[in-house]
Amino acid sequence: MKLILLGAPGAGKGTQAEILCKELNVPTVSTGNILRAAIKNGTPTGLKAKTFMDAGRLVPDEVIIGIISERLAELDCANGYILDGVPRTIAQAEALERAGIRFDSVISIEITDEAIMERMSGRRVCEACGASYHMVAVPPKTEGVCDKCGGSLTQRKDDEPETVKARLTVYHKETEPLKAFYAERGLLKKVENQASVEETSQAILHALGR
Ligand code: AMP
Repeated sequence: MKLILLGAPGAGKGTQAEILCKELNVPTVSTGNILRAAIKNGTPTGLKAKTFMDAGRLVPDEVIIGIISERLAELDCANGYILDGVPRTIAQAEALERAGIRFDSVISIEITDEAIMERMSGRRVCEACGASYHMVAVPPKTEGVCDKCGGSLTQRKDDEPETVKARLTVYHKETEPLKAFYAERGLLKKVENQASVEETSQAILHALGR
């Protein structure tokens, strides 16, 4: 299963990807998580990406295309993958196509900007492993501590309200056109965000015919 998860920042792509990768038995590839790890490790890619990310802007396509091509060439991606947060521009989608990378389905998680703004204020991310939580919807067992690895949970700098607004503007301008791009290829499936994480996962699996 080669899958793309599309959706606004905060639509729940990361959370759904973590659930779906267990159901479908394929790895999740999140460019956001790869970039955050690069920043933490102080790599040249991380240094380049940080100013864009902190401002809620997109990291340049050539950086992303390099990262994703390398990651998808790794052995664990041989049988499939779930892409979370990539492609995010038509240029990235075209680059993937040119590289011969094909997909079985593209799921777009549909949610309003208002719901996103409300939701983002509660999001917390593990500094160590990148797992995401929500103070109300998906709380960790112990406040501030990752259930999976014991790392500490923090609010992402780019989840602050002004940055979220900027990211939504970028999403509508740069990323939303991908829906038409993949609809033309017969791959797009729209799934409405549901009241709970589990119901949204079920809706996605249903759309995938599972
Ligand atoms: P995410 O964790 O997917 O919300 O990504 C966080 C930030 O990383 C974004 O706001 C961008 O600055 C950057 N980023 C992640 N993936 C991409 C991508 N495919 N293209 C450009 N920038 C990206």
